[in-house]
Formats: sequence, structure tokens, C-alpha cells
Amino acid sequence: MDCLFCKIINGDIPATIVYEDDLVIAFDDITPRAPIHKLIIPKEHIATLNDIAPEDQELVGHMLYVAKQIAAECDIADAGYRTVFNCNADAGQDVFHIHLHLLGGRKMKWPPG
Ligand code: AMP
Ligand code: ZN
Repeated sequence: MDCLFCKIINGDIPATIVYEDDLVIAFDDITPRAPIHKLIIPKEHIATLNDIAPEDQELVGHMLYVAKQIAAECDIADAGYRTVFNCNADAGQDVFHIHLHLLGGRKMKWPPG
């Protein structure tokens, strides 16, 4: 399958991996939008949030759990951080393998642009 993030999972494209377990990996975003910008992705290919199945609910919860652990390791937990799933065109999804953005290290605006 021609998927950028599956290639990172397989080791065909390099990434700075900061966390890995049986279900997910996390790595530095190549174009960081904040001082801390990590992506948490499932090892299973799921194209968009619209494609998650009932049996994926634990996996998606696990992605959030990993995000909060990385936030603590990066020392942004107390100051605060943002977690984002972009889904499809209106949200600006560019890579069609679900990924949870973990952004922190600066003050964020709300609502998002
Ligand atoms: P999205 O717009 O939500 O689909 O986010 C895709 C993210 O993937 C963007 O923040 C990109 O900077 C990031 N990205 C694209 N290619 C790579 C790569 N090779 N390694 C790490 N992050 C990447
Ligand atoms: Zn994929």
C-alpha cells in the first residue's frame, strides 16, 4: 500500500520515533507547528477517523493515553497541550492514515483556524 505512515511503520522512511508498542508508534512531525509536535499513529492502516470500527475504540483511546504520557515526558503536561485528529478536506487532512497530533510548548489560539 502506498501510504507514507505505513512506510514509517515498516522502517522504509526514516522518522524520529519517540514511542513504540504493539499497537502504535509516535514520532516527531517533520514540519513542527509548535515547539513540541509529535504524531501518534496506529500500526494498523486506518485511512480516516470516519473509518474507525467499533473494535477500534480501545485503540483510539490508547492513542490518547500515549499522547498524555508523551506530554508528561516532554514536560508540557502542566502548562497544557493540544491533541488533534484532522479528518478529510475541511480539516486539512493530508496523510490518509489516522494520526493524533500532540502539540505544545507554546500558547495556542482558540478557535483553531
Ligand atoms: P494532517 O494534515 O493532519 O494529515 O497531518 C499530516 C502531518 O504529517 C503534517 O503535520 C506533516 O508535517 C506530517 N508529515 C508529513 N510527512 C512526514 C514525515 N515524513 N515524517 C513526519 N511527519 C510527516
Ligand atoms: Zn497507512
